[in-house]
Amino acid sequence: MKLTIIVPCYNEEAALHFFYEEMQKTMQSMPDTEFELLFVNDGSKDGTLVVIKELASKDPRVRYVSFSRNFGKEAAIYAGLSYSDGDLTAIMDADLQDPPSLLPQMYRAIVEEGYDSVATRRVNRKGEPPIRSFFARCFYRLMNRISKADIVDGARDYRLMNRSFVDALLAMGEYNRFSKGLFGWVGFETKWLEYENVERVAGETKWSFWKLFLYSIDGIVAFSTMPLSIAAFFGVFMCAVSAVSIVFIIVRQLLYGGSAFGWPSMVCITMFLGGIQLLCIGILGSYLSKTYLEVKRRPIFICKETNTVRRKSGAECSGEER
Ligand code: UDP
Ligand code: MG
Repeated sequence: MKLTIIVPCYNEEAALHFFYEEMQKTMQSMPDTEFELLFVNDGSKDGTLVVIKELASKDPRVRYVSFSRNFGKEAAIYAGLSYSDGDLTAIMDADLQDPPSLLPQMYRAIVEEGYDSVATRRVNRKGEPPIRSFFARCFYRLMNRISKADIVDGARDYRLMNRSFVDALLAMGEYNRFSKGLFGWVGFETKWLEYENVERVAGETKWSFWKLFLYSIDGIVAFSTMPLSIAAFFGVFMCAVSAVSIVFIIVRQLLYGGSAFGWPSMVCITMFLGGIQLLCIGILGSYLSKTYLEVKRRPIFICKETNTVRRKSGAECSGEER
């Protein structure tokens, strides 16, 4: 059985050697499995590609795909899946935050217990700023309430999948990819493993708070149309409020005559309504912009260099030779 491990790398020259050494141990502990290490160089600006090529020249199991620029981790995952040739495919970070030592256990869950995929989640967020953990937790709670994506709190992208699972992911060729949601959306039987958070072995994280925040909005827009319904709900609610106010003002006019008071409240109401209108236009705009990017049908990534062959993508070609 062949196992492909996809490793998205962006400026990981410091971590790659540690990663390779650690993987070496895991691969030795699974002698019956044929391995392929598929590094996806996501337009790194440091010597990541040089390190990968060095590994590839020593070890024929090392394959790589190198992008023409930085396309983001989601694009790197998609590229990895479309080039993956294994019966089983894993996605693993290059910084050893996804412990390779879990692989044998994940492998057994698919081969012996018959699961289609094995996913992992961190049970704690040790070493992470508390404010980030707080927002992350709020995000997961909100996401599960408003979408069908079925995202588990603390879920990592670290996962082992069988061929049908990978083909299902490839069949979703959308441009705005939010893998954590896609994994849940495709269904299948998934087993969850838990582990304690591990800190990055070298180098530094590529995710600022702001980047994560924008990413979470991408996730919501990609998997839920609830914000659009909320915009409509605001509209209905404001209509009801204005109907009541009109009746109130007419009755007051008839009973007590006109009133010159009320301009501060008028300003407040105008600003409030202006705010709601802009918010709703903004919500509409974010869906429109995603639709715009989607209809352009630009490629998800552009490969500049590789030492492997792309498998035809999509579920329809399962079982074919690459
Ligand atoms: N990564 C990538 N492209 C990017 C950003 C990150 O391929 O634009 C890779 C990165 O090299 C690493 C993985 O995604 O292997 C996770 O990134 P990181 O460790 O910085 O994220 P964190 O673990 O802090 O969430
Ligand atoms: Mg990391």
